[in-house]
Amino acid sequence: MNVIECWMEHPVRKLDTTFTYRTEKHVECGCRVRVALRNTTVIGFVESVQETDETPEELNARLGYTVREVDDVLDETPLITPELHDLALWMRHETVSTAIACFQAMLPAKIKPATHSLHAVKEKYVRLSDAETGLTPKQLEAYLFVRNESEVRYSELRRKYPGQAKALVDKGALTVFEKEKAAESTEHAALKEPYALNTYQQAVMDEIEQSDDPVYILRGVTGSGKTEVYFHLARKALDAGRQVLLLVPEIALTPQMIRRVYERFGEDLAVYHSGLNPQEKYEQYRKVYEQKAKIVVGTRSAVFLPFRDLGLIVMDEEHDSSYKQDSQPAYHCRDVAIWRGKRHHARVILGSATPSLESYARGIRKVYHPLRLDHRVNDAMPKVTVVDMKAAVQRGESFILSQELQGKMADVLNRGKQVILLLNRRGYHARLACRSCQEVLLCPHCDLAMSWHRESRRMKCHTCGTEIYVPKICPKCGSDKGFATYGFGTQKLEEEVLARFPGRKVLRMDADTTARKNGHEKILTAFGNHEADILLGTQMIAKGLDYPDVTLVGVLNGDDGLARTDFRSCETTFDLLMQAAGRSGRADESGEVVFQVYHPDHYAVQSAASQDYDTFFRNEMHFRHAGQYPPYTYITALTFSGMDASRTERAAMEFKQALAGDFKVIGVLSLLRISDRSRFRILLKGKDPEAMREAVRRVIDAGIDSRVSLRVDVNPMTLD
Ligand code: ADP
Ligand code: ZN
Ligand code: ZN
Repeated sequence: MNVIECWMEHPVRKLDTTFTYRTEKHVECGCRVRVALRNTTVIGFVESVQETDETPEELNARLGYTVREVDDVLDETPLITPELHDLALWMRHETVSTAIACFQAMLPAKIKPATHSLHAVKEKYVRLSDAETGLTPKQLEAYLFVRNESEVRYSELRRKYPGQAKALVDKGALTVFEKEKAAESTEHAALKEPYALNTYQQAVMDEIEQSDDPVYILRGVTGSGKTEVYFHLARKALDAGRQVLLLVPEIALTPQMIRRVYERFGEDLAVYHSGLNPQEKYEQYRKVYEQKAKIVVGTRSAVFLPFRDLGLIVMDEEHDSSYKQDSQPAYHCRDVAIWRGKRHHARVILGSATPSLESYARGIRKVYHPLRLDHRVNDAMPKVTVVDMKAAVQRGESFILSQELQGKMADVLNRGKQVILLLNRRGYHARLACRSCQEVLLCPHCDLAMSWHRESRRMKCHTCGTEIYVPKICPKCGSDKGFATYGFGTQKLEEEVLARFPGRKVLRMDADTTARKNGHEKILTAFGNHEADILLGTQMIAKGLDYPDVTLVGVLNGDDGLARTDFRSCETTFDLLMQAAGRSGRADESGEVVFQVYHPDHYAVQSAASQDYDTFFRNEMHFRHAGQYPPYTYITALTFSGMDASRTERAAMEFKQALAGDFKVIGVLSLLRISDRSRFRILLKGKDPEAMREAVRRVIDAGIDSRVSLRVDVNPMTLD
């Protein structure tokens, strides 16, 4: 008989302990079982298995209670590797969350494979038809391409021959047919030869190879060829028969990166990001588990894939906030990557043009091995112009597009080049305010301003998703004088651009236009194919994209972020401006950048304008030191939320009183209400994060009001 210990599927803190069951069946650590818990049946996750010769009665007698029998064993083999098991328990400790939440964070939602594919995704292909038709030379070229390949994905043909693909189908020269979407690995990309590294890249490469250090922080200006260095390191790891993990911050970034990896490494690739459906995720998970995937490109959760032998982990844009998970367990992907790197004896490379202050400070203290790439491959840094919008508006210019930016846009467009405009606010108008009492229209469920969306003619809350029609009378003062509009969003910007540049093609990329599957990819591919002159969008277009023909980038309301009260708001503003500037002039022609701002003299704006990380770092470290913020101190944030405000506040107060240890306790702070939930926060600040963890865990174990939920965030990214 087996005696097993298992975790329960519910991630509630009261159940964060293992329960004992018995079974005659074969079962291993890391398998799921169905068991009875009180009056219901739940799924358990097996922590340990012990064989015994005892009878059930002897077992009960020894333990002093009745051990129930497992209803069913759900998996024949474990879902996770022993390494991932250890990782989950480490994460539970580090993030002060429940063990089951950590296991759940690691596993693809539908870990069970569907026995037969219920929802096979179909894709369009083309092949030659029998019809002989008169073709233009260009069409003939496309026709011959299809003949060579015998069948081609229609999307690929359109990408290669945008002007011919549809015409060939219309003429009947090609037939369209549908086929089950092939696993990504069977796509054959024309392999590209690696570039020979330049001397700077080679020096970085040599330094890494000659070092035994586990973690590296590579600070390289945008366009300095960091990605190329990653690829050379990856090649070496692959040649040594090991696996490679390439982490990227956001799904918007992945299409370009994926294409680059395909072109270099061919079919050994797995791709893993939140845009995959559960079945696709499961397939990629298996591919890695079975070592069929040698190199993985993925976002945050890819760091949990069941690698067997990792030789290299690269984390590109390591400063990006999407590497931190909001919900429990609030882990940072970087910490997990470093843990796994150590376990596999794999190097971890953290790369960024604007490293997080924490990582860069660790580089200075040689905790991470510091590396630099200070020269762009094309040796031309973008020329940045800062436009003071306060002055521009006073001169009577548009508050959306300054004269300066319009002039430069006209210039670039006339030369047949492309423009990117970045505005960190979607919707049409930022907000509506009552003409009588001046109160801004707030979300009925959150204490936050709503944005007006013209397409739906409704107000939207970007935090909880609530949509309402603009009310006839003001909910605050009852006036019926209507509302005045303030600010502008991407929709309004699009309209303005079209009005100023009639006949130009504009693509808009924001959460509204990318909601559908592959929405990002479609927009980015279209822009890459020159189907538009101007790409405008929210910060999702600021990072990582590499378009050779973009020679002008405009950032609108570039210093909006400074208005936030968060300790990291200067850093994120600086990052955004630097990254945006990095999109311009990446190929042969040098690029221009315009920052439209209201605080032109702020050091975050100034340092970004001169692309000067060092100056920004010095200034910002000074500020962090004065305020005792990271990296000078560690913070743990405890957020209590609940439907009943006073109950929630009381729970936070009681928690605070019970906390004791070698750290400061700040709060209880009242936060903005979100989705009808009142929120309160306690901050712990100190030099020893372990002391905070222990104290928090102790108070949690003593129990908190069951109607109040607590979110623990060790090393939070933001505090607003
Ligand atoms: P980063 O990741 O630092 O922003 P990339 O690796 O994307 O920079 O390189 C910027 C551009 O320079 C890319 O278009 C890339 O193909 C090109 N590039 C990189 N390294 C070399 C090299 N050694 N020789 C020629 N071109 C290069
Ligand atoms: Zn009013
Ligand atoms: Zn809301």
